[in-house]
Formats: sequence, C-alpha cells, structure tokens
Amino acid sequence: MSTQSNPFDLIIVGGGAAGFFAAATAARAHPGLNILILERSERPLGKVRISGGGRCNLTHACFDPQEMSASYPRGSKELRAAFEHFQPRDTMRWFEKRGVEMYTQEDGCVFPLSDDSQTIIDCLMGEAEQLGVRLYTGCGIRSLQHNEAGFRLEDKNGKVYSATKVLLAVGGGSKSAYALAAGLGHTILPPVPSLFTFSVPDPRLQGLAGIVVDIELSLAANPSKAWEHSKRKISVEGPLLITHWGLSGPAVLKLSAWGARDLADCGYKCGVQINWLPDETVETLLAELLAVRAAVPRQHALTHDPSARLPVRLWKSLLAGAGIQESEAWNELSNKRLRILAEHLTRGIFHVQGKGPYKDEFVTCGGVSLKEVNFKTMESRLVSGLYFAGEFLDIDGLTGGYNFQAAWTTAWLAGMAMAG
Ligand SMILES: Cc1cc2nc3c(=O)[nH]c(=O)nc-3n(C[C@H](O)[C@H](O)[C@H](O)COP(=O)(O)OP(=O)(O)OC[C@H]3O[C@@H](n4cnc5c(N)ncnc54)[C@H](O)[C@@H]3O)c2cc1C
Repeated sequence: MSTQSNPFDLIIVGGGAAGFFAAATAARAHPGLNILILERSERPLGKVRISGGGRCNLTHACFDPQEMSASYPRGSKELRAAFEHFQPRDTMRWFEKRGVEMYTQEDGCVFPLSDDSQTIIDCLMGEAEQLGVRLYTGCGIRSLQHNEAGFRLEDKNGKVYSATKVLLAVGGGSKSAYALAAGLGHTILPPVPSLFTFSVPDPRLQGLAGIVVDIELSLAANPSKAWEHSKRKISVEGPLLITHWGLSGPAVLKLSAWGARDLADCGYKCGVQINWLPDETVETLLAELLAVRAAVPRQHALTHDPSARLPVRLWKSLLAGAGIQESEAWNELSNKRLRILAEHLTRGIFHVQGKGPYKDEFVTCGGVSLKEVNFKTMESRLVSGLYFAGEFLDIDGLTGGYNFQAAWTTAWLAGMAMAG
C-alpha cells in the first residue's frame, strides 16, 4: 500500500461527463488548484463515446428552465432551480467557445457538427489537460473515509490518496460506487433501469415490425401496489415503433422513464393501454363508426379504415383482434360489436412480459437522495467537503440530451463551489 505524499485540493472520483466538466470548471474558476480525476476504467468518458449512437446528443435546445426541467422524472424540482445558473444555452456556449460546432435537430436534440462523439471527448480532455488537471486511469476507488483532516481514498490496487474536497461523479448503477456514499451516511434510492423497450408477445403485433404511429400509452394493469394505491395515471403521448419483440420508440422510452420504479416493482410484467387514435375517446370513435356504417353499409370493414389514420396492416390486425372477420361488411356489425371495436382502438390492453431483449438501458433511476444534497453547491448536507454530480444522484431524464445536461449542470455547480 502506498500513500500519496502531497494531498490534492480536489479529487474527482469518476472520469465521465460530470467528472471532467466539474474538473474543468473548478480549474478555470481557481487556477492553481491541485486537481486529480480518478477513473476506474482505462479509457475515460466511455459513455460519451457510445452516446447518441456515437454522435453524442450533448444537450436539448430548450432554454426555459421550467420547461426543460419537466423532462426529468426524477430531479425535476431541483434541476428547475439549477438551470437558472447553468442551462442548455450555457452548455452550447461552453462548447462553442472551445471550438465545438453544433447543430440542432428539429426535435431539439443538439449534436456536434462532426456527428462524432470523439469531438466532445477531445474537447473535455483537451480542456482538462490544458488547465493542469491530472488524470489517473485504472484506479477504481473502493474506500472513502472522512475526518477533520479531509478525505482518504483507496483504490482497488491499494493505493491511497488524500484530498481536502472530494466529488463523487461515478455515474449510475454501480453497487460499489453507491457504497462509497452510503459509507459516509448517505441514503441511496435503489437503482433500477430507465429508458428501455417492452417485450410484448402479442398476435396483434405480429408481422407489423417497422410500423410507427403516434399513440397515447398508459400503464394499465396495476403494475405495483404503490401505483395501485396512489391511483396516479402514468400516461404519455408520442411515436410508437412496433418491433419484432414488442414495442419501442419515444412513447415507450418515455413511459419506461416515468414508470421506471413501478415497472421494476412488478418485475416488468404488467398491462399497458394503447389509444391508437389519441384524439378519440370510446364515445367519439363509436359515433364515427356508426356514421361510417350508415354511409357505406356494404363495404368490408377490414379493408376500409374510415379515418385513414392508421396504416392498413395495423388496422386489419386490430380489427381481427376485436373479433371482426375478413368477410364481414359494416352492416353486419351490431352496435355492441362497434363499441367493442371502439374500445380496442382507444384503450386496447397489451401485456408487457419484460424489458426488450437488447441492452438499451440508457440511464439509472435512483441514486444518492437529493434531499441530502445542497443544490446551490452540490455539497453533501451530511459531510462537509463532499460533493456529487451527474447520474450518481437520483436524477434521470428522458432521451434527447437531457441526461448529459443534468451532468453538465450539476458538475458546473459543483465545480464552481469546490473552487471557492
Ligand atoms: C448507450 C448510451 C447512450 C447514451 N446516449 C445519451 C445521449 O445521447 N444523450 C444524453 O443526454 N445521455 C445519453 N446517455 C446517458 C449519459 O451517457 C449519462 O447520463 C451520462 O454519461 C452521465 O454522466 P456521469 O459522468 O454522471 O456518469 P458516467 O458517464 O457513467 O461516468 C462515470 C464514470 O465513473 C467511473 N467510475 C465508476 N465507479 C468508479 C469508482 N469506484 N472509482 C473510479 N471511477 C469510477 C466510470 O468508469 C465512469 O467513467 C446515454 C447512455 C448510454 C448507456
């Protein structure tokens, strides 16, 4: 075991987006600070590298803190205030100032003009290096202790470090990393995945892979006791993509985020309700179907979607699911059967049997309890000199650059405070 002779002013545990951004912020705010980043893996910024399909969706072009904060199932209230200090506009300016050109997609997602996440990695690493921040890789921290003299850290190789202040920016999901904060008295809200797709083996979806429709999607069949008890409705709107294994697309990712904990509680087995025609209710659609029956009584229902709002293949499949045969004409469908059809189309139930088969879990719901963190400085309310940033906190956002923005904002606040 070896001891670092010169203690660092600041040690940042975790060389990810939040760790580098905090290091650069502190170093620029207070040149001369002795700052060290300790990264577990050999290559820092690993998630930045794979983010956004290799393009890195670094933020979302939403410049109103209130509106921006509404896209965080957890951390919304705290980020609302934090965005007053550092928000997407500041992120874009920060990268722009360091030579990163960006573009904004129609949906608000912001990417480097190079469409290459390496641009963001080069920028962050270049900035840290230029400011004299030291980086040690391959040193996963396994113990963190605190006394009046400051912090003592030990890595997996038995090497010991000491520092006056420590930032934990270790990302989401690692049990050993959560133990570092828990060991100093912090509460960890149990980590569960957010942003995943649904496995739904349902004959109504067979042969429809690739179809995209705008729908309303809700958690339906009491996914957890807590949910049942609260009677809250978790419902989202947006594009749904039918896949070979079930359901995906922005609407599903959104529902998986808002319902992350409920879905975990029920073991990812529950009902979801789909309104395939989100502008309609059972009653409005039934009125429409009755009118169609009166207007074109002899036409075959299966071949004629009166509203022309759904792809034909999907329309046929949903009608078959409602028990309507290929040979039946509109005038053969009783009022009762039309009501059943209207119900299938506006509140059809599909049974989720698990998460999608691919590893598409982008972020972790859960982490360090926000109640124990001062969001003006990101300092622990329990341990003076201990700071938090990024996904290690109980914060997660929807897809679209929200998660990196939470990392930049919390890291900037921590960096400024630690430099003070
Ligand atoms: C496939 C994928 C694509 C994504 N795409 C996007 C996107 O386009 N836009 C977006 O906004 N978000 C995206 N995200 C989410 C985003 O990557 C994270 O929210 C973000 O990286 C969080 O930053 P962080 O610094 O808090 O954590 P991380 O990036 O996870 O960094 C934490 C670092 O800490 C290190 N570490 C952990 N434990 C220890 C330890 N004990 N000692 C030392 N080091 C340790 C880890 O090795 C890691 O390098 C994506 C996530 C994934 C998985």
